[in-house]
Order: sequence, then structure tokens, then C-alpha cells
Amino acid sequence: MRVSRLLTKTLRQPPSEADTISHQLLLRAGMISQVASGVYSFLPLGWRVLRKIENIIREEMDRAGGQELFLPVLQPVELWEETGRHLSFGPTLFALKDRRDHQLFLGPTHEEVITQIVRRHVKSYRDLPLLLYQVQTKFRDEPRPRGGLIRVREFQMLDLYSFDADEAGLEQSYQKMIVAYQNIYRRCGLPALMVEADSGAIGGKVSHEFMALAPSGEDEVLHCPGCGYAANAEKASFQKGNPSQEKPLPLEEVTTPGIITIEDLARFLGVPRARTLKAVFYSCNGEVVIATIRGDLEINETKLKRALGCPELRLATEEEVKVAGLVAGSASPLGLRGIKTVADDSVALARNLVAGGNRPDTHIKNMNYPRDFTVDILTDIALARAGLPCPGCGGELASERGIEVGHIFKLETFISEKMGAQFLDQEGKLHPLVMGCYGIGLGRLMAAAVEVNHDEKGIIWPHTIAPYQVYLCPLLPEQAQVRETAERLYQELEAEGLEVLYDDRQESPGVKFNDADLLGIPLRLTVSPRTLQKDSAEIKGRKEKEGQLWPLEGLAPRLPRHPALAPPPGAGQQ
Ligand SMILES: [Zn+2]
Repeated sequence: MRVSRLLTKTLRQPPSEADTISHQLLLRAGMISQVASGVYSFLPLGWRVLRKIENIIREEMDRAGGQELFLPVLQPVELWEETGRHLSFGPTLFALKDRRDHQLFLGPTHEEVITQIVRRHVKSYRDLPLLLYQVQTKFRDEPRPRGGLIRVREFQMLDLYSFDADEAGLEQSYQKMIVAYQNIYRRCGLPALMVEADSGAIGGKVSHEFMALAPSGEDEVLHCPGCGYAANAEKASFQKGNPSQEKPLPLEEVTTPGIITIEDLARFLGVPRARTLKAVFYSCNGEVVIATIRGDLEINETKLKRALGCPELRLATEEEVKVAGLVAGSASPLGLRGIKTVADDSVALARNLVAGGNRPDTHIKNMNYPRDFTVDILTDIALARAGLPCPGCGGELASERGIEVGHIFKLETFISEKMGAQFLDQEGKLHPLVMGCYGIGLGRLMAAAVEVNHDEKGIIWPHTIAPYQVYLCPLLPEQAQVRETAERLYQELEAEGLEVLYDDRQESPGVKFNDADLLGIPLRLTVSPRTLQKDSAEIKGRKEKEGQLWPLEGLAPRLPRHPALAPPPGAGQQ
């Protein structure tokens, strides 16, 4: 491809709206173009990168035994009503009506559609297992699109769905996908850490994310250097200590004038924060909920959402708190009637806590669960953080930022039971299909590859997904010998099957070198009057500081091929 013919031009300065490195570099390099908030066009260079990622993904899905198909974007509301997931997706779903006033959704995911197909075609255990996948456009009305391709509203996604007869089969499919995913990230030059994750609106109990570690990542990963435990902070747990052996003391009311925060309360009474009970008010589907936790811990709203089964959870307003008859700063579950209560299991381990008295300026000492109060839900709703003890080995948890580049779920029978997707076992008995689902956002992976692979000059594409392999760069092409040599090399390199970006522009060496670095092409090949004096061209890798002179004679066939990295023998093969 001749640079002079390329649709896009590079930009010196990043556009002001670009908020992450990948966003800045992809815009400056002319790889993407914004259409609307969270909606992007892929321009010729960016589209080449995306297609290479897609090819690697397709090869690995096929190698794992996947069958490719293609499902529609338009999905009727009736399918979603079968699972009820339109409620958990809530406003994230792009909804529209057709001319007959019939409700449709633009697919954010395809479990319902694929399960409808499988329930029509799969009758017996002999038809299982099945791995079905597609690469498709998904739509999610994100509340806050950001980071260029990191969080968007329309995106290309690989989604694979596994169908098995039982848990053991699902485990095998799940492991197969883990190997395939690891192959994909390795081949895309993007190391990714597998971490435990929350299943969110997709459903199911067990899920894992693959995280590319980068300082700009919007997720926090907690991991244990001791035992290898790793989880998204939304999901991570930690050891909360053994149950206290103290004797429960009698309740005692104390006057606490003007005290409303845990810090002030602990200081006023001279007790550690771990001896207090914190209460926080939330609004869950319009109903006020009181969540309590040991005073030294924070509430994890993702865990709370899951405990309540409430997709739209937010802090309650002052007005809502007042209407519910609660006293901010002095609330506790003590003697509460008619309000839903959730407590972190840390409150059941502690003894003789100081808690709100549900009256202004009043607290109660020596509150004990369950002697003095009970709650509707007692479970883990605590936020893990660096420094707390690892749930596996008790070592200190460490924190890193990560970009989620893949998410896999054990759906089990969550969808198939609701949709009546069943098969007959060997004895002729009906069972629901045991499902898993597995997704990779292609654009997100592309952006993460840039977040992880760049320097101050621009992108450093891993060679497997670079838009072109070679940047052919004649300096002073107005000199006939330079121009003719470059033209000849261009033909020879293309004839060798190399992907070449040929900078045939009448531009200064500085402009050409800057563009070569910004675009991140793995190999730069320079022809100039100086190199021609030695019948050579200069070869420089994108990451190298200095180039080397190679003789022009027979140069094209000797250039490194950079074949796509093959997976290790037997990995994930059927
Ligand atoms: Zn550990």
C-alpha cells in the first residue's frame, strides 16, 4: 500500500476528547474515527488489525472444536421474556419497535437466540457436547462510554456457547476455552491474567475474566503473590478473622451528640473502628434497603446487588431515608420493622459492637448478632482491598489495574431451565442442557494491545496483529536512484508475500520516521543516498534504537517473516 494513496493522515496532536493512551494513539494514527459517543468507525489500517485479531480468534475456536454460525442482531422481546434477563440488563439494552409496534432488542449477547436453536435441534445426549460460536456486532447502551475502544456501545465480539450433558462435561468445555483464550492472547502479543469475576447480568455463578494488566485499566485486580489467587476487586474475597470469643455484654445506650461518622464515633468512644457497626442506605428498585458491615470495612456494591438481585442499585437520597423513618448517622438494624436489611457476615463474627440507636445523637453499645438483631440477608458484601488477608493462604493481597479482554461464564442450567432446553439421557430421562458462554471484545483487545505495547513515539504493534509488516521508507525520493530502488524493493517485498506500507510521499525524513513510529509497523526499511553508497538498505525493528545495513542484493527473501505464532503442539486440540 502506498502511503500517498492511504485514506487517512496521521495527526501530530491527540484530539482533546482522547482520554487514554490507546484512544490517543489510535486516533492520531488514523486507525479509528468517532461517529458518536461510544460508536467508532474502523479505518483501513485499524480494520486490518481487527481482521487479524478475528482470524487468530477464529483459528483457535476452530482448533478447540467450535462450529461457526451467525445469529441476528434483532432479537424479539418474547425470547428475552423467557429468561427474564431483559430485566437484569435493564437500560443497557437498546430497545426499538417495528412498524407493527412490536418490541425488539439489538442483541447485547446471544444466549436466548442460540438456546432457541439448540432446543429445536438437540434431542439426545448423543448430540452433545456442542461448541457454537460467531463473531458478531453487539450493542450495549453503556452509561459512560470511555477510553476510545475500551468501553463502547457498538462492538465486534466473539461469543461461543457450550452445551453439555452434565457438570463434568461443562468443566471440560470450560477448560478447553481457557486454553483457547490463553492461545489467543499469546498470539496477539497481549499477556492476560485469568481472574475470578462477578457474573453480572449474564447470569450463572462461576465466571472468570482475562485481564491485560495496564495502569490505565478501569478494573482493579487483587492477587496473592503467595498462592496465585487472583480476582476482580468486584468479586474478590478475603479472610475476615475467626469468630470473637468475647462474652456478649448487656446493651447500653450512650449519648453521642453530633456524631454521625464511624471515625468520629470510634474516636469519641475510644474504640477501634472494627468494634463499630456501619449502616449504609441504598435504593433497590425504589425500595430503601439498609446494609450493615463492620465499621472498618467498606461495602462492595456489586456483591450487594447480587445479594439483593437488584440490577439498579444506588445510594438512597436524604429524602428517601427520611421517608423511610431512618436516622442518618444513627441507624442500625436494631428494632427495625418493614425495611429490608442486609448484613456482611463480618458482623456475625464480631462481639459487642457499637451501633446506631435509630434516634438522633444516640448509639447503643454491645450489639450482638443474632441476640439483638437479625437481618433478611447475611452474606459477604465486603469490599476487598490490597493489604487484606488472601482467602486462600492468608498472605497479603496486592492490587493492579487491568483491562478486561475476555469473560467466560459457567451458566450451568440458568438459561436452559427457563427456556425448556432439554435432552434425553441414556435412560430416556429429560435433563436441562448444561451451558457455558465465552466472550472476547475485538476492539477492546486491540485497544488493550496498544495500552500494553507503546512508547512515547507511538504504537508498537505485536507483529501478529500489525496492519502491515514492513514500512518502506525512501529518503530524498526526488533522487532517481533512491526512488527507483524503493519502487523495485516494493515490488520484490510484495512478491515475497510481505505486507508493505510504502511511504512514497515527498516528505522530510523526520516526518516519515515519526509516522513509521506512530503507526507501529514492526520493521522499518530505509533507502537513502547514504545506504545506496554501500548498496544497502537500513533495517530497524520498531523497538530497536539503531538500524543495521543489509545488502540490497537478495534482501526481500531474507527479511524476517514473522509468521503468526502457532500454539504449542496439541494445545486445545480435539
Ligand atoms: Zn494466597
